[in-house]
Amino acid sequence: MPKCPKCKKEITSLTAHSSVIETYDFNLIKREDGEYMANWDHIDTNPVDNNDDDFCCPECGEILFYDQEKAKEFLIQGSWEEKVC
Ligand SMILES: [Zn+2]
Repeated sequence: MPKCPKCKKEITSLTAHSSVIETYDFNLIKREDGEYMANWDHIDTNPVDNNDDDFCCPECGEILFYDQEKAKEFLIQGSWEEKVC
């Protein structure tokens, strides 16, 4: 099983963070007291293609990889040399 190089715990998955663009329909709702209230209707979520995804250890939260291929390799091979890309 892969071991986190930071906390040495065995992990079977990584926590990934990815940037996205959220698209909303922004409109106003008139309340009963006559005031307007901002209303955000969610329309869509799109990934940002800037390759800044990070892959963290779910146990200690340390960022281990910035590269999906390296993260994959780590989970397949189950080990990792003491170097963070
Ligand atoms: Zn860890």
